[in-house]
Amino acid sequence: MPKRSYNKTPMREQAPEVRQHNFKEVALGYNLQEGQLEASRCLQCKDAPCILHCPVMIDIPGFIKQIKEDDMEGARKVLNRYTNLPAICGRVCPQEKQCEMVCRLGQSKKFEPVAIGKLERLVADWSLEHPEESIEITHDKGKVAIIGSGPSGLTAAGDLAKLGYEVVVFEALQTAGGVLTYGIPEFRLPKQIVQKEIDQIVAQGVKIETDMVVGKTITMDEIMEDFDACYIGVGAGTPHFMGIPGTDLTGVYASSEYLTRINLMHGYEFPHYDTPLQPAKNVVVIGGGNVAMDSARSAKRLGAETVTVLYRRSQEELPARVEEYHHSVEEDIQYNWLTSPVEYIAGDHGQLVGVKCIRMKLGEPDESGRRRPLPIAGSEFVVPADTAIEAIGQGANRVMLDTFPELATNRWGYVQADENTCATSVPGIFAGGDIVTGAATVILAMGAGKIAAKEIDQYVQNKQVTTTV
Ligand code: FAD
Ligand code: SF4
Repeated sequence: MPKRSYNKTPMREQAPEVRQHNFKEVALGYNLQEGQLEASRCLQCKDAPCILHCPVMIDIPGFIKQIKEDDMEGARKVLNRYTNLPAICGRVCPQEKQCEMVCRLGQSKKFEPVAIGKLERLVADWSLEHPEESIEITHDKGKVAIIGSGPSGLTAAGDLAKLGYEVVVFEALQTAGGVLTYGIPEFRLPKQIVQKEIDQIVAQGVKIETDMVVGKTITMDEIMEDFDACYIGVGAGTPHFMGIPGTDLTGVYASSEYLTRINLMHGYEFPHYDTPLQPAKNVVVIGGGNVAMDSARSAKRLGAETVTVLYRRSQEELPARVEEYHHSVEEDIQYNWLTSPVEYIAGDHGQLVGVKCIRMKLGEPDESGRRRPLPIAGSEFVVPADTAIEAIGQGANRVMLDTFPELATNRWGYVQADENTCATSVPGIFAGGDIVTGAATVILAMGAGKIAAKEIDQYVQNKQVTTTV
């Protein structure tokens, strides 16, 4: 028996000096030998804490054991019981804050946790290369509408189709996938992978209708008349702005617009696609989450000479995934910690030429538990910039909500839904994902979709819902 290695089996990656000039995936995945080596590090704990810290409670030791035993078909079967989107989760889930954070191997000072996410990706990618024969399912238990094709809606749709429902997903945009398609860039999550996992859900009998804006193209009344139940997973993509002077200058973007232009409109594939972004030399990104990292790393790939992230707290509080931060540093992204913009400076033609900033210090903790950043008077300075991207958070997508006042929302504008059942204030209408929690994670959105599918089944079969809000 070979000695268990202290560190995770490294995953091959594109070299930083190469990848900062292309949009191809950074992490290249394990091959079978590397996967088996990593799988052999797992202790196969009886009371596996990793399972309890996975929002969809995947049998993690179960699928890892099958990899170790060279039974990829078995590993696929285990994963398929819990998730419809493993190739996506294996790439973008914050495992370091969930399953890997509590991995028993990682609890001993000497060892790194098992690379659970990378192993999930290995099985999922193998599965996409070795498609299963689809099983005929009869969809005669009832008819369910899903609004929004992000990870939450797709998960609910897949599970309901497996349970025997006719499922129609209404999606406002021209392509399904939600943030997976228009937000997270190709170099972290290839769109071909997203499409393949969506295709598998469609193969189970789910119908996806794109270019259907619920509240405009079709009303909630029409949906309620036609369907036995409905799941709302419309997400939280409305950008927040700092509202500082100069926000209307040419060159100032919200991250959601910037990333959508790149991902959905193929802005990086000019001249093959005639939708380029204005070329930028010096880019400033405001924020410290995954969205800020994605914006900064995209700007670098589009040819910016300098990309500087301004974050109002210190590196210690940075909310982005550690891996994404490290990748960004390797790609020559600069950081200005404890810095906040106060004004966008205009050039002669109304275009952005610089961002006036102020230095911050950390005060007492605020309601989020993090120390509140406070400006230091007289510390202003200017960062030259022709593009600024604000990535400071997003709010509820309101188009549908505004046309459906019967649905109770909270003071932040998110839908009120019971966290154990996803039931809303309207019988037969369930909701989950970012539109309920506010901007969160793919796996939490998927978890809500799974709960909702079970509850919708109960509701349609017995017209019974466990709780409403
Ligand atoms: P969404 O993914 O937002 O999908 C909602 C869908 O509903 C959209 O397709 C939208 O077009 C559609 N819709 C809205 N209104 C209507 C309407 N009226 N009619 C029809 N359709 C409608 N999470 C992670 O776990 N890891 C990461 O690395 C990560 N990186 C991220 C990077 C970026 C740039 C962003 C923006 C988010 C990131 N997240 C990440 C967060 C994660 O993507 C979200 O939490 C998740 O996508 C939420 O899923 P959802 O299904 O609730 O909503
Ligand atoms: Fe394996 Fe870690 Fe889970 Fe234990 S906690 S079963 S070592 S992955």
